[in-house]
Amino acid sequence: MRSIKIKTTESEYPVLVGDNVISELTTILNDLSPSKVLIVTDSNVDKLYGEKLVSTICPHFTTYKYVITSGEEAKSFDVFYELQTYALKQQLDRKSVILAFGGGVVGDLTGFVAATFMRGIPYIQIPTTLLAHDSAVGGKVAINHPEGKNMIGAFYQPKAVVYDSHFLESLPIEEMRSGFAEVIKHALIRSESLFQYLQNEIHDLQDVNNERLEKMILEGIKIKADVVSKDEKELGIREILNFGHTLGHAIEAEAGYGKLSHGDCVATGMLFATWLSMKSLNISLPYEELKTWFKKIGFPTTIPDSQDTENLIKRMTKDKKTKANQIKMILLKKIGETTSLTFTDEELRILVNE
Ligand code: NAD
Ligand code: ZN
Repeated sequence: MRSIKIKTTESEYPVLVGDNVISELTTILNDLSPSKVLIVTDSNVDKLYGEKLVSTICPHFTTYKYVITSGEEAKSFDVFYELQTYALKQQLDRKSVILAFGGGVVGDLTGFVAATFMRGIPYIQIPTTLLAHDSAVGGKVAINHPEGKNMIGAFYQPKAVVYDSHFLESLPIEEMRSGFAEVIKHALIRSESLFQYLQNEIHDLQDVNNERLEKMILEGIKIKADVVSKDEKELGIREILNFGHTLGHAIEAEAGYGKLSHGDCVATGMLFATWLSMKSLNISLPYEELKTWFKKIGFPTTIPDSQDTENLIKRMTKDKKTKANQIKMILLKKIGETTSLTFTDEELRILVNE
């Protein structure tokens, strides 16, 4: 088992990573002495592990389980409302604890329910996807609005993150790849040594042993937590987490949300940002190596054929994290270190077409 403590201005909480760390959950819950425990999970995770989790907790605490339909659509006002209603009907109170058992969707939704139910009750993240190494720490919880993804939410920290690598054994390869893109992002922006490790050790996501998996989860979490601790409310340095996402989000939106994997889009975005770093900062970076490695892993390395550069540039200028008609790009000074530059759409057009 590997464990770290994450400090925020308001709290400190443990992150446990390893095979069978779920056995620690009862101890963590005992410390919180909950009046009731509500497990929120999705239909896929429930089928695979719902019983296991219930049987771990049930003998010790009054336990309820609420299963949402898997998929991004669950981050909606309707499901948020249904969950609040369920919690009220089961008479959860301010001493109750909610468990977010699933990937980023369950984590974001459940965290926002916990943040708002009776003005905030404790919750624990029990991630089951690799991507959730990113979403389970950092304190951002949210649901979507038809006007935009993650637009309604809060900053709200969990009481603990219990990351049992055993649950990831059933994760489909596309979901592994999606999470792996964010691990690579964390390495590229903050840790040359993690990047070297990943590049040397990971060539096939179907064949990642537990030791490597746990290392990438924990190192990814450390980087995310460290960046966030310096900027909990997302006013400054946290923007470096946007590396690869300016173009990534544009590709994802252009295809229509849900059509392409977020991680695949971010991978293409990271390649573009690396290329742009070399071109605009006049430095050399292992761009070709990165591209070859990405191909081996199965990431797309070019924008989809059906997409038009001009439309993508338009979308990038509308990114919620940029000012009007300007595109702020997070770039690499070297592997493990970032800088940023702002481009006008015209400047970017010239660079891309050169
Ligand atoms: P997800 O929760 O939808 O999980 C992906 C799929 O895998 C789902 O179909 C799910 O049912 C299935 N699944 C989950 N665990 C499984 C397992 N162990 N075995 C088999 N199948 C399993 O998606 P995700 O990729 O984990 O997270 C994406 C969400 O995270 C997005 O909504 C995104 O906005 C959010 N996010 C939030 C933050 C943050 O800081 N809060 C950061 C990044 C992403
Ligand atoms: Zn992302």
